[in-house]
Amino acid sequence: MTRNPSEHTLAPGLYIVATPIGNLGDITLRAVDVLKNCDLVACEDTRVAGKLLKHLGISKPLRRYDDHSDASARTRLVDAMRTEAVALISDAGTPLISDPGYRLVVDARQQDIPVTTLPGACAAIAGLTLSGLPNDRFLFAGFLPSKEKARSEMLAQLSGIDATLIFYETGPRLVKSLHAIERELPQRTVSVARELTKLHEEARTDEPAILADHYTAHPPKGEIVLLVGPPPPAETSEMEADALLMKALETLKTSQAAAEVARKTGLDRKTLYVRAMELRGK
Ligand code: SAM
Repeated sequence: MTRNPSEHTLAPGLYIVATPIGNLGDITLRAVDVLKNCDLVACEDTRVAGKLLKHLGISKPLRRYDDHSDASARTRLVDAMRTEAVALISDAGTPLISDPGYRLVVDARQQDIPVTTLPGACAAIAGLTLSGLPNDRFLFAGFLPSKEKARSEMLAQLSGIDATLIFYETGPRLVKSLHAIERELPQRTVSVARELTKLHEEARTDEPAILADHYTAHPPKGEIVLLVGPPPPAETSEMEADALLMKALETLKTSQAAAEVARKTGLDRKTLYVRAMELRGK
């Protein structure tokens, strides 16, 4: 019998395979190749995994796995990786990211089993790219706690971080979370990224109070990523601005020094220019 050229043997080990978060077109060629050629698929939910594999025209043995499965289930799976190629998928997106797999990866690595990752869709990153919020620094913090006190405490803990914060959220909890952000993280721009890659994809970016009003009037359907922009730059005192200008004037022309300090502090460039002229005259 001739072998289908797309079928080949995969080396034994663990393959972490990202799958789509809504749009089935978002599966990579490599993911299809590994799912086609692996020996076993470890998955969160065999029904959800079965549907994806059926859509791809693939039939493979499925084994349910989550990090709360008992230790012996994990040991059996890690043992299988010594002789078989095991693909790990979650219900959607990248395994391990608010999904099972972390303990499996730790155990496999500890036992020198080869681990390979196949990157792909991830709701946190998709939401960040769509939100219009700064993306040079971000912190992914998973789901906010459902209890009000714990949620407020977690937001307060994160309040000093100079980065965009990314959370996974559910429709029924969204408005409560927006109100908590309004209280704990004042003066932030927030984005609600919903139904990413699906027909009704949207990202609304606004003040939390405005978003809370909107989603009270229009209860949100579907899956949500909630993003909180970084804190506004701390106010710079006149003395601090003078010190920065003096330092900049040591090496830069007046206009360049004013522009540099304006960029650093968010203060008005023209005002800084006038002050820099005064300081030069002193
Ligand atoms: N591992 C997944 C990933 O890489 O994005 C996330 C799994 S986590 C259990 C599921 C949460 O991700 C949802 O409750 C929602 O907050 C977010 N999510 C997943 N798909 C989404 C989508 N299409 N649009 C917006 N958020 C989504």
